[in-house]
Amino acid sequence: MKFAELVAAYERLDATSKRLELREIFVGLLKDAGGPELGPVLFLSQGQLRPEYEGVELGVANSLARRAIAGATGVPDAEVARSEKLSGDLGLTAEELLRGRSPAADAAAITVEELYRALRSVADAKGEGSQDRKVGILSALLTRSTPLEGKYLVRFVLGQLRLGVREMTILDALAQRYADGSKEARSRIEAAYNLTSDLGLVAEALDRGGLEALGALRLEVGRPIRPMLAERSPDLADVMERMDGRAALEMKYDGLRVQAHVPEEGPVRIFSRRLEEIGEQFPELVRALPGALRRRPAIVEGECVPIDPETEEIRPFQEISRRRGRKYDLERMQAEVPVTVFLFDVLLDGTTATTALPFGERRARLVDLLLPSERVALADQAVVTSVDEAQAYFDRCIALGGEGVMAKSLAPESSYHPGGRGFWWIKYKREYTHALADSVDGVVVGAFAGRGRRAGRYGALLMAVLDEESGRFETFCKVGSGFDDATLAGLPERLAPFARDAADPRVRTTLLPDRWMAPGLVLEIRGAELTLSPTHPAGFGRLKPGSGLALRFPRFTGRFRDDKGPEEATTVAELVRLYQTQVKRAADVAEPGGTTGGASPAGARE
Ligand code: ATP
Repeated sequence: MKFAELVAAYERLDATSKRLELREIFVGLLKDAGGPELGPVLFLSQGQLRPEYEGVELGVANSLARRAIAGATGVPDAEVARSEKLSGDLGLTAEELLRGRSPAADAAAITVEELYRALRSVADAKGEGSQDRKVGILSALLTRSTPLEGKYLVRFVLGQLRLGVREMTILDALAQRYADGSKEARSRIEAAYNLTSDLGLVAEALDRGGLEALGALRLEVGRPIRPMLAERSPDLADVMERMDGRAALEMKYDGLRVQAHVPEEGPVRIFSRRLEEIGEQFPELVRALPGALRRRPAIVEGECVPIDPETEEIRPFQEISRRRGRKYDLERMQAEVPVTVFLFDVLLDGTTATTALPFGERRARLVDLLLPSERVALADQAVVTSVDEAQAYFDRCIALGGEGVMAKSLAPESSYHPGGRGFWWIKYKREYTHALADSVDGVVVGAFAGRGRRAGRYGALLMAVLDEESGRFETFCKVGSGFDDATLAGLPERLAPFARDAADPRVRTTLLPDRWMAPGLVLEIRGAELTLSPTHPAGFGRLKPGSGLALRFPRFTGRFRDDKGPEEATTVAELVRLYQTQVKRAADVAEPGGTTGGASPAGARE
């Protein structure tokens, strides 16, 4: 396949945000790509070179890309920089400058395979002289690029491709291309993806042998599985009803979810909720895990929490954020903020994949597998059979510093559902506010210039949630509270990679921020209550014609959800459910002893 063909499809993808159209364009691309090109086409279109968990990075900054453009066009570096300043998009600059250059008459068209290989060499270039090597490779590619190819190539290497093609759309397209597009085919493909976290691998298997070939894909140590997620519930009576009167309740630790892959021999790999590899940041866990498990290989999941080195008590979550993303001072931070992981699930035990087992059996295996230590412990659990017992356990968890409980089904069907949010797991948290039962993880889609004390900085952010149906990010509030001075000062730098001049085509809002942001950064927000409002489009018309949902008195909790991508943040459907929970709770308060019975949320309030 020629790069020019891929770029022609990108132009069409760029021009639409309609899920059906995006899918059709993708089906066309899948048909045109040959077997070995499938992975590259899928990854490149998502702005990646490899599945996200591999963490392959190109390491190309704007200055480097400018040098490559200068090299390919003969335009001086300073002029490239000037043009970039005007266009605000180095991709556009490349397009414009390549247009002004007379094309090399003998330049052969770039193929996708060749492009992909060259980009992998850019990523692989490390150490002394690597910057020059990267410039050389990119400059050679640009020399042979058409203006359009140049635009997308530069956007790609800078991580600014953003075609708005979500994984969900790609899965739809795969079901259409390699099966009959039915729901059943789609869910088998999604299951294979949830198990392997690698769309390229799934596409190649489909290309080789259709749906049947997916059966050969297995859980593997070193390749993360997409995590099982929990639903929310308004109260413990509802939780117990959904669990048919018997459930395993566990302490809900407030930390960082980790999936640890412990091979028979060799280094342990630890993945975050977003499947980023974070083992380097927690060397004490990497060291402790092999000795803490009776059998290997193993894949276990748990919550990693900061521990007070003096008292050994669990410390507030915020402290762990001091350990995230850190490359230096690791030893000192380990001593100041040591962590313990509380294991709550096992997915691979020796050579046996345990994901299909009911939760009770998985827990029994985990207990048997673990040799608890200071760094690796077992999540606290109690099996309860009544609302009163559940309430007593919940109260105990809060007293011990947990944020609530995770209720887990013990039914025969309670297998591990990768990548799925369902009522097999239900989270029930301590409530911080009267009306709103939980925080919302919102996506920044715009920023407003500050005034007064905040002049010259951002004063408020425009927040959105994803509507999974349409793939749009719909706004639900503008948040300006809860930011301390240091956070405010750091916002421009944090937001710079997402800033753009025009609204991202995926964003729906009625407000006009001073700076638009591509959906990327996720913030945890609390608020007083959700209200029906004509101003915000989140869930517009779902609860009442002419109204969307807005969060009143929103406040940043101080927690950047770096472990979540914009598509893993709160969704419109969840916001609607939160609103419904709030309405139900208000009705219960108005009618004491109502449906919540002994598990009145009042008992759980601070
Ligand atoms: P979600 O993961 O559901 O999108 P979230 O990341 O915002 O939401 P919460 O809503 O707080 O997190 O609840 C789910 C998370 O709780 C899990 O992903 C996990 O990180 C954490 N957790 C803490 N204790 C447990 C436990 N015992 N069992 C399962 N998860 C737990």
